[in-house]
Amino acid sequence: MTPDETVARRGPQLSTDDLSFFFASHHAALASLAREAAAEMEVLEREHGTTHEAARSAIAALGARGLFQYFAPSGGTIDLRALCLIREALAWSSGAADSLFAVQGLGCYPIHAYGTDEQKRRWLAPALEGRSIAAFGLTEPEAGTDVASLRTTAVSEGDHWRLDGDKVFISNAPIADHIVIFANANPTAGRKGITAFLVPRGTPGLTISGQIPMVADHSIGALSLRGCLVPDDHRLGAVGQGFAIAMSTLDNFRVTVGAAAVGMARRALQEATRRAVVRHQFSKPIAEQQQIQGYLADMCAELDAARLLVLRAALLRDQGSNITQEAAIAKMYATEAAQRIIDRALQIHGGLGVVRGIAVERLYREIRALRIYEGTTEIQRVVIATRMIQAERARSTPSERRP
Ligand SMILES: Cc1cc2nc3c(=O)[nH]c(=O)nc-3n(C[C@H](O)[C@H](O)[C@H](O)COP(=O)(O)OP(=O)(O)OC[C@H]3O[C@@H](n4cnc5c(N)ncnc54)[C@H](O)[C@@H]3O)c2cc1C
Repeated sequence: MTPDETVARRGPQLSTDDLSFFFASHHAALASLAREAAAEMEVLEREHGTTHEAARSAIAALGARGLFQYFAPSGGTIDLRALCLIREALAWSSGAADSLFAVQGLGCYPIHAYGTDEQKRRWLAPALEGRSIAAFGLTEPEAGTDVASLRTTAVSEGDHWRLDGDKVFISNAPIADHIVIFANANPTAGRKGITAFLVPRGTPGLTISGQIPMVADHSIGALSLRGCLVPDDHRLGAVGQGFAIAMSTLDNFRVTVGAAAVGMARRALQEATRRAVVRHQFSKPIAEQQQIQGYLADMCAELDAARLLVLRAALLRDQGSNITQEAAIAKMYATEAAQRIIDRALQIHGGLGVVRGIAVERLYREIRALRIYEGTTEIQRVVIATRMIQAERARSTPSERRP
């Protein structure tokens, strides 16, 4: 059985025309570049799979197209709408390529925002060109959602730091050339002791183990740091600034997770619509069944809502607003909606939907992690509700707060 490649050939119908009020003039050309990159990633994955070698080639190709330059804009401020367009297009084609792009950003942006000129020259410049691979090491076996409780320690030893601890679920770890690692230099100070370090692959005391087998192929592994000595000039930002570095990086990238979910959902809807039109049962296309039409209509409305929420957050951020609330809403809604849309798309494919190699089957596996990484759905809910409650308390007088 060969998958129908019609939708793949048509590509992501991604443009800035339909929602032009969200975009600046330069985004139209970027959407076209992102579409070309997505097509290249689709071919690369079909021909070479998701091996580490294929991942390296994908990073080199994305770098050659200049897409990583958006992690380090010359004006200083990140162009979040650009990152959303790129992730929406890449995720449409390949969850693995989207993940490579995003993690390269997580490992580059902190250097752009907090690094010294020398750190930028040594680590950022090659990564932006796709000549080296970056990773972001925050999560630990006992510190996931509660990242401030991380246990990796950094002890000052003259002009070096000694790092000890374990990291888990570090995307790109098996192929990374440098990893931004977060460790606590003053555990009694809690999150105020967390400090960021740039640790190159091959540093004595750093062991990278992988590949962790995941539901969808993805380059990911674990790190162990045992007496890992790094010079003080590998410290990123000030001692104690690490938590702020991690949070500001994730704040920027969280919206783009929503954009990737939109890309996957868009692909699923295109695949489902095509399948509904070509598949005949009871002597007519299943698209003429009202239940299928109802599914398609709901999927379309949810996809539009998700994209609008993502672009609202990205636009507000690009205009300089604090978007903690909007980013949490966009990430939560887009990833949850995409899961529902993809599930419906698979259902519309019937048995074909669960055959390995069919686009909706791949999407069904790829979407799942987006509801977990960079802040789970549950923690986005906590963020949203906490801010609503705080706003209500700030607005009301003590007498209004009495039952
Ligand atoms: C594919 C993938 C890629 C990843 N890549 C990276 C990476 O590159 N770098 C990195 O540092 N990390 C990475 N992670 C780790 C990711 O950020 C964590 O998995 C995530 O933050 C959740 O942590 P946890 O898995 O330990 O779950 P836990 O924190 O153990 O949470 C378990 C459950 O409890 C819920 N929960 C926890 N606290 C609360 C609360 N206060 N209120 C309500 N519910 C709560 C969670 O929502 C979840 O449902 C990746 C994870 C995945 C799956």
